[in-house]
Amino acid sequence: MRVLVVEDERRLAAAVKRGLEASGFAIDLAHDGVTGLHMAREGSYDGVVLDIMLPGMSGYKVCEALRAESNWVPILFLTAKDGEYDQADGLDLGADDYLTKPFSYVVLAARLRALLRRGAAPRPAILRAGDLSLDPASRVAHRGAEPVTLTAREFSLLEYLMRHAGSVVSKSELLTHVWDEADDIADLNVVEVYVGYLRRKIDVPFGRHAVQTVRGAGYLLAADGG
Ligand code: CA
Repeated sequence: MRVLVVEDERRLAAAVKRGLEASGFAIDLAHDGVTGLHMAREGSYDGVVLDIMLPGMSGYKVCEALRAESNWVPILFLTAKDGEYDQADGLDLGADDYLTKPFSYVVLAARLRALLRRGAAPRPAILRAGDLSLDPASRVAHRGAEPVTLTAREFSLLEYLMRHAGSVVSKSELLTHVWDEADDIADLNVVEVYVGYLRRKIDVPFGRHAVQTVRGAGYLLAADGG
């Protein structure tokens, strides 16, 4: 498996290369963000190990740029930053894992093997269906360029429908996944009510029909945004 390591500290980069090669990986090195991005785009890598603080372009920006181009190569951030918000930022930008320095090569190699097993299937940080988009991290939804203000429940409902876009989702499935058990709601009508609220925000004002009723089965969010 060929892995790109982007790390500006040359001695550390060389050590990571040796450590991972000892575990059977083929390693290419880049020492700045711009070169790293270029190599990640051009080379066909099975994974990328990415430092965050890099000259030229940060690891965050490299990750964001790759995901914006629908490049789903598994990415592991390797960094001295260890604040929980830094880690959350990296993962929300579309990275797959995170390891803080100092780290063990055995653990790094094991994490990489786990990532590569999952492969490069699309796993967008921002969900899209046509011109409908939803960012689960910032809790923002848009119809085209227009921001749509949703309540927490409406947002969760739309998120679930978008994660299953193009498939029929039953009312009871929605009740299970969108409503807390603590809410203790047994009435499926509440789902209908909220689907109505959602339509009035994402469909009606735009003359669209993204949320479709499938008689006797449930609802379907049109994959093309309606
Ligand atoms: Ca660095």
